[in-house]
Amino acid sequence: MRILIAGFLHETNTFAQRPADYENFVNGEGFPALRRGEELFELAAVNIPLGGFIKAMDERSHELIPVLWCAASPSAPVTSRAFELLVGEITQGCRDHAPDAVYLDLHGAMVTDDYDDAEGEVLRRVRSIVGPDVPIVVSLDLHANMSSTMFEIADAMTAYRTYPHVDMAETGKRSVELLERLHRGEELHCAWRRIPFLIPINAGSTNLEPARGIYATLDGPLTDGYDLSFGAGFPAADIPDCSPVVWGYGPDAQRLDAFVDELAARVARHEGDFVPELLSPDGAMQRASELLASGTRPIVIADTQDNPGAGGEATTTGMLRSLLKHNIAKSVLGAICDPTVAAHAHEVGVGATMTARFPGSPYSGDAPLEHEFTVAELSDGYCRFDGPMMHGNELHLGPSALLLSREVGVVVTTRKAQIMDRNQFAMVGVSPEAQNVVVVKSSVHFRGDFQPIAGAVLVAQAPGPMAANPADLSWTRLAEGVRVGPLGQEFHRSVELSGS
Ligand SMILES: [Zn+2]
Repeated sequence: MRILIAGFLHETNTFAQRPADYENFVNGEGFPALRRGEELFELAAVNIPLGGFIKAMDERSHELIPVLWCAASPSAPVTSRAFELLVGEITQGCRDHAPDAVYLDLHGAMVTDDYDDAEGEVLRRVRSIVGPDVPIVVSLDLHANMSSTMFEIADAMTAYRTYPHVDMAETGKRSVELLERLHRGEELHCAWRRIPFLIPINAGSTNLEPARGIYATLDGPLTDGYDLSFGAGFPAADIPDCSPVVWGYGPDAQRLDAFVDELAARVARHEGDFVPELLSPDGAMQRASELLASGTRPIVIADTQDNPGAGGEATTTGMLRSLLKHNIAKSVLGAICDPTVAAHAHEVGVGATMTARFPGSPYSGDAPLEHEFTVAELSDGYCRFDGPMMHGNELHLGPSALLLSREVGVVVTTRKAQIMDRNQFAMVGVSPEAQNVVVVKSSVHFRGDFQPIAGAVLVAQAPGPMAANPADLSWTRLAEGVRVGPLGQEFHRSVELSGS
């Protein structure tokens, strides 16, 4: 097979403020930077779907036609300019090479200025060029908001089965297998069911029940030959397709239907279990003090509502304020994105004191924070992930610093990135294992590298754009009847939701 490979990923939080423009995809932010042509092969060792797809080719004789791979941090919708430029490169590749098959590494929850269902539009354009007979297989993020258009156009789609997404490369490998089955002429039926309630992101972690148990049922001897997915949805996209979906592909339509029905029923049975325990910033610090007193450490606290991996800008100050107030020995927060403060730290140098002025975010309840710190360490902001989440990924966060005030440290970077790997602290000389309290701007992905070293993990709700409880968002365009949380209120366009 001559397989065209391309990737274009974005998770869109329609409630966030900054859009994703072309330059955000060029830099990649928390993801690898944009690659074209042969450069895609540089990503073979990175734990992303494209990496797994390329690696699986080592023992196969297919020819790969690499076109483009790019991703940007979750944010407000993708600009028309970025979408047209980037999809344009993929469709031009399809025109130039007339491939036998197409593999696309997509997210599934991209919204643009023009399209609610951006993946559906990518697929529509690719299909219109390659024609009806060329198989198109897609790997997707577990947080995809699936559309009927995607199911109509793609020949097969398979999603990650872990959150933190430590199986991205494995999902790419599964895509190869689906593509080979289609190429051999096997007919794969498709079945899908929408789940009528939004799942709060912190509750969807596969480190926890009920998600762990549900995902464990996707792959077993009984379902051999059937590829099943449970897309938990991304519950911060105000579009009609925002909801979890279960789906699958397989050789026997009746058996497939039964598998997908059973999966949907299992998710429905656990609706009331998808509720995360959320603490206030001070509540989290209080709980941390109690745990430390009983010898449990380090305590890792997710500053979930400012997660740059879900639409946050890594600028909110709620958790830092709480850390400074409680002043627990050996506590640290990573990472606030503030180019001005980072540059100032580099100007004055290690050992100097400086006043940092963090402006905060425009979100209700957040506020500016001005405080005097000592510059404890400087860094050029380069780090490479050694943990399981996106293992091998390289970040270039620009001039960065560790600032200290009495017992409290804060990592400041020039570019934003969700905390997913302990090396994001190590780059400024901090060993998370040696801390008592580690606050991370992340919702769940940090668990990949931090859960193994954590005495306890807590989730705190400081003001920020990524609502830990979807019922806190002002929905206007959801599908009729979708519940805005587990066992929550139903959305109806004619009725104003009263909030949580
Ligand atoms: Zn995801």
